[in-house]
Amino acid sequence: MTASRIVDDIIGGRVQVGEKLPTEPEMLERYAVSRESLREALRLLEIQGIIDIKRGPGGGPFVAPLNSGYLARTSSLYFHLSGATHMELLQTWAILEPSLAELVAQKPDRRAKRAVFAPFIDYDPDAHQSDELFADFNNFHAAIAQLSGNRVLTLVTQSVTHIVVENVLRSVDPVSERSMLSHSHEDIAVAIVDGRATKARKLMAEHIGEVRDTYLSRSPDQGLMPVEWRL
Ligand SMILES: [Zn+2]
Repeated sequence: MTASRIVDDIIGGRVQVGEKLPTEPEMLERYAVSRESLREALRLLEIQGIIDIKRGPGGGPFVAPLNSGYLARTSSLYFHLSGATHMELLQTWAILEPSLAELVAQKPDRRAKRAVFAPFIDYDPDAHQSDELFADFNNFHAAIAQLSGNRVLTLVTQSVTHIVVENVLRSVDPVSERSMLSHSHEDIAVAIVDGRATKARKLMAEHIGEVRDTYLSRSPDQGLMPVEWRL
């Protein structure tokens, strides 16, 4: 299959992230397929977020960085079709995030962890605009996911977190909850940096529980709403 051969070339380092794929005549020759097959393969990879097809002069298919947002889109379609509810998604999030926090806390490199989590320790939520707050709160969870050292757990958790944030928690105002969120993040960050794995797990479980309760306190029925498919 042409798409998987292109992926093999990306994994094999023939083309790097951010680089343009070879020209169409070059790829037709390399993969020995019809123009239709090649275009279909490129379209498939574009939909999966593996390549980014830029239009106009200097454009063409570029290798995109791995983006769990695409995994989230596909997952949200499956969750939607299965009839899964917001509560089920939140429950999954509550299972994944504490495990991740525990794993990262067990990492021995304290200095590296401190560098990553420094922005979230002594964070002053009142010194930031609302969109900055929102990004920083999300970045905290992304930072943990990136340090886990388990790529599967990282991608699965990032994807679930993405759907939770985009699909479920839209009614939770990060500005009005900024004090609760930044305090929890700070405590978790300190436990992770200090290598206190059990504490990090416990604090993360409490944090996720708090976010869930805040969400459900507005309207308990929201938990029964089906997960939507977000493109
Ligand atoms: Zn959080």
